[in-house]
Amino acid sequence: MSKRVSSFELAMQNVGAAVKRLNFSPTVYEILKYPERELTAAIPVKMDDGTVKVFVGYRVQHCSVLGPFKGGIRFHPDVDMDEVRALALWMTMKCAVMGLPYGGAKGGVACDPKSMSPDEMEQLSRGYVRAMWPLLGKEKDIPAPDVYTNARVMSWMMDEYSKIKGYNEFGVITGKPVVVGGSSGREEATARGCVIAAREAATVLGIRLQGATVAVQGFGNVGSVAARLLHRMGCRIIAVSDSSGGIYNSKGLDPEGVCQYKKSTGRVKGYPGSQQISNEELLALECDILIPAALENQITEQNAHKIKARIIAEGANGPTTPEADRILTERKVFVVPDILANAGGVTVSYFEWVQNNTGLYWTEYEVNRRLEEKMVAAFKEVYQMYKARKDLSMRDCAYTVAVQRLGEAMWLRGWLGKGYEHHEQREAARA
Ligand code: NAD
Repeated sequence: MSKRVSSFELAMQNVGAAVKRLNFSPTVYEILKYPERELTAAIPVKMDDGTVKVFVGYRVQHCSVLGPFKGGIRFHPDVDMDEVRALALWMTMKCAVMGLPYGGAKGGVACDPKSMSPDEMEQLSRGYVRAMWPLLGKEKDIPAPDVYTNARVMSWMMDEYSKIKGYNEFGVITGKPVVVGGSSGREEATARGCVIAAREAATVLGIRLQGATVAVQGFGNVGSVAARLLHRMGCRIIAVSDSSGGIYNSKGLDPEGVCQYKKSTGRVKGYPGSQQISNEELLALECDILIPAALENQITEQNAHKIKARIIAEGANGPTTPEADRILTERKVFVVPDILANAGGVTVSYFEWVQNNTGLYWTEYEVNRRLEEKMVAAFKEVYQMYKARKDLSMRDCAYTVAVQRLGEAMWLRGWLGKGYEHHEQREAARA
């Protein structure tokens, strides 16, 4: 992953364009350009061999105009402040486009979870909370899982926070196991939302899902579940990959089988009956739907012109660089942008938080029904703008919907000061 260009600055380009498009006050851009709060913390962990290793942890609280901060925690060797900042900004946009009552945040720790034991992971998770707890709270900032963190990590974090407070605070974190205040359907929610977005895209483009070909980059929480759900809907999963490389079979792979294989070997490579391919080759495959579900900056100006997929549903955050985006738009690839396509996770996290706060737990059927409703409504809102404004991409439209909500909330809360005629006129027209 290239670190030469600031991911945050790249992400702000879309915000800037949306602010201009809406003819909003430049103050909206200025407010979004600076996260409200950032914390870097040292996290000492006693390793299994008795030595102490100090990890660096981050939390960025980007913008809370719509509600308490919300955003996952990533454990990965490449985590740094710029990446966490960009991910926090995307959370602000994601919550806004979905109409969720949350602001955006993100956290991370630079570490290599693959080389750590479960005990070390537990100590790191608890250490993160001990370092960050003054920022966290069910009304302040509510973390969730992200790359290489899962329900187990969330339960350690919730437990540590509860110990500090002296009472069970289930609502401080989402993505927990069901038995300790988690929501049914949360583990699959990001992928389920992504699949709904891909299905809606296929419908508007007149592509039948039955027999549609799919390639998935990244075979973790999002990618593996998306592959399984699309397979169940009749799609042919022709390729999947993880950090060790990819596998291909033109006749279709069985994602359940690949999951079992990955569970026992730790990778998808070598799955019986498949041909080995690189991640680059996977991205360039002839297919109907491509789901990038790994990390940022995977589709770049170097490979965007090779992409043959008709639909890209961005399961990952920031998989496409702005240059690549321009190329894909020119080549008429229909991109469902990350802030919409992977918003199923935060949506069900919101449902989990609502359930924690009310103490009334929903069935999986109820969770999935509400997720379906929210995803379809958000897709339709963005798509309607896309249809009406032929000069804009789906990403442009998603950012416009998000910035519109954010700008309006800022104005209504008095964050923008005087002379903001645009909003005054809108309010007058409404009255
Ligand atoms: P995960 O840790 O479960 O899986 C990540 C997968 O990507 C792993 O299979 C890993 O091997 C693979 N990978 C890493 N580097 C790769 C590379 N260079 N090429 C191919 N594969 C590679 O993480 P996840 O939770 O599935 O998250 C994946 C993406 O989805 C991230 O961008 C994350 O921010 C985004 N996302 C996750 C959630 C969620 O609820 N988990 C919600 C919204 C967005």
